[in-house]
Amino acid sequence: MISQTGNPYLDVDRDRIDILLSSNDPDSGRLRRIAMRLIIEAMDDTENREVTAINDLGSLPLSLWILKYIDEPLLTSRAINHSRDLLERFLTSERLHAEDVPDYARRYGVEMEFSDEDDLFRIPLGTFVMHTSRLSGYRYRLVYQSIHHGIVYTDRESAVKVIREAFVRKAFEAYATIDKEDTAKFLYPLSDNIQEIVEKLKNSGIKKDIDLGEVDFTIFPPCIKEYISQMRDGVNLPHMARFTMVSFLHKIGMDNDGIIGLFKTAPDFNERLTTYQVNHVTGGISSTEYSPPKCSVLQSNHLCYKGDDPICNKDWLKHPLQYYTYKKWKKSPKPPLDKLKKG
Ligand code: SF4
Repeated sequence: MISQTGNPYLDVDRDRIDILLSSNDPDSGRLRRIAMRLIIEAMDDTENREVTAINDLGSLPLSLWILKYIDEPLLTSRAINHSRDLLERFLTSERLHAEDVPDYARRYGVEMEFSDEDDLFRIPLGTFVMHTSRLSGYRYRLVYQSIHHGIVYTDRESAVKVIREAFVRKAFEAYATIDKEDTAKFLYPLSDNIQEIVEKLKNSGIKKDIDLGEVDFTIFPPCIKEYISQMRDGVNLPHMARFTMVSFLHKIGMDNDGIIGLFKTAPDFNERLTTYQVNHVTGGISSTEYSPPKCSVLQSNHLCYKGDDPICNKDWLKHPLQYYTYKKWKKSPKPPLDKLKKG
């Protein structure tokens, strides 16, 4: 089944989904089955994956329809990340010649070229920056790239990361275009299978609320609120946002178990790694207790969300912790002025 866009991998067009749902041909039947599997595997986080071939990604548009119907952001993120990992494995595998990688990049809107003279990929600077800004690791920073006339010359691993991030962006964009009311109308042939997924979701523990314990969320600065809300929506946070969140929560008195529990809602949660990172930032391992970065650092890393918040826009506000302390002081009961005078 070839879509009008030439890219069957992310085409969530209603007519196309309708045909896929009603067709009796074996290919459509297989894609329907794989679309469900992809979601279940994302929920189980299982190693025994059945959705393993690149062609299986043809089922992703139907998975996105089902996910829209279920409307659980964390499950949506997990399913998209599962597909992303499948694509990445394929693009880095030896089965695929390096010169064929740019064809896959174009499917997700990324222009790049490969030259076997130097074994390097050529990517426009703006494209490279846009798709690597959320990646952790020095190798994706511009200072480590070879750049000539606005083109980044990079190896296959970095080129694949660019495609992978473009894929995630496109998948979320496609998801956003699906009309929820349509999903209820069109997905009825799969209603039993979807019900099964919903039941599984209820028992999976995925749908957790974020527990902030004794800490007062209402007086958090906008940046920390935004990181928490993005994590609740299943977005993978950049490294600096995670670091800021951990060090901030530690400084205001949240214990390490509470902080680790918060990360359990992240789509790429890994308990061992998170425990190590949290213990490192909070001084449990390194004996250095880190503080969150200043506002100016967060601003230059595009991680400040101050908008028109009146406190963030004060000249004296230099640090997210200052915001919290100020608001806490404003909220605390004050002795009457006459007592202050006498005291
Ligand atoms: S101004 Fe500072 S405290 Fe406010 S959102 Fe930006 S980084 Fe956070």
